[in-house]
Amino acid sequence: MPSIFSKIINREIPADIVFEDEVCMAFRDINPQAPVHVVIIPKKEIRSLADIAPADKEILGHLLVSAAKIAEKLKIDKNGYRVVINTNDDGGQTVFHIHLHLLGGRALKWPPG
Ligand code: AMP
Repeated sequence: MPSIFSKIINREIPADIVFEDEVCMAFRDINPQAPVHVVIIPKKEIRSLADIAPADKEILGHLLVSAAKIAEKLKIDKNGYRVVINTNDDGGQTVFHIHLHLLGGRALKWPPG
């Protein structure tokens, strides 16, 4: 099912895009939880981590490699950052198009709430 993130991919709604290639897109979160908060999504519509198939492993790997690249580009790699995948209701997922949150720019607390 298309979500708001499909509209960002199709450029039907604007986003502050920080990275894009043939597989994925990354843009700044509209409600940032840290000085750097980027959402990284595959262009393929996948509902959540609970819905992935073995055939999606290349896409998932690509998202992680891209997260590391973007962290370097945004200069949070040396101090450190966190990558999160909220999954379904108890995981706090609100947009049902799988995505990584890349958070950095401050010391993050652990455990998350
Ligand atoms: P989650 O709660 O893990 O599903 O994360 C969804 C994230 O998408 C939230 O952090 C929202 O703030 C963010 N978000 C929702 N709509 C937009 C949008 N139009 N542009 C950028 N970020 C968005």
